[in-house]
Amino acid sequence: MPANKKTKRRSFKRKFNPRLIKGNTSYSVSEIGALFNVGENAVRHWIKCGLKINDGKTPVMIHCEELRTFLTKKQNAKKKTCNQDEMFCFSCREPRKIFENSVILINQNDKVLQLKARCQTCKSFMTRNYSSSKLAEIKQFFALFVNYQLNT
Ligand SMILES: [Zn+2]
Repeated sequence: MPANKKTKRRSFKRKFNPRLIKGNTSYSVSEIGALFNVGENAVRHWIKCGLKINDGKTPVMIHCEELRTFLTKKQNAKKKTCNQDEMFCFSCREPRKIFENSVILINQNDKVLQLKARCQTCKSFMTRNYSSSKLAEIKQFFALFVNYQLNT
């Protein structure tokens, strides 16, 4: 898929911890830049992307609560959660459904079941760990193969 390259680059972007924001004051663009070690252009980009600035003030000031909300949202948008019948595909960089009947159990101990399957979209291999206690549940939506006949 053509969007692949773009998605890949985005996921290597830095993480910004909203807990770095202290107190109950407003910050200038350069103060925010210094706090998160990014350039002022990055902060201005955040403003374009929805970070709310204080009304009618020059220079531009951002209230810490707005900054916190913005960054928390930004962070959460990156988290991609898989449904039980999905695995995270590192080629698609998305949670993906598995390609029909392609699930194999590659490892199992008291705690962890490690499953491997092909991505329904790009057919790459994906792996995912499940808690061993989930085995019965997993069997309901995956047919599990306990061998390595996945090369065909
Ligand atoms: Zn994929």
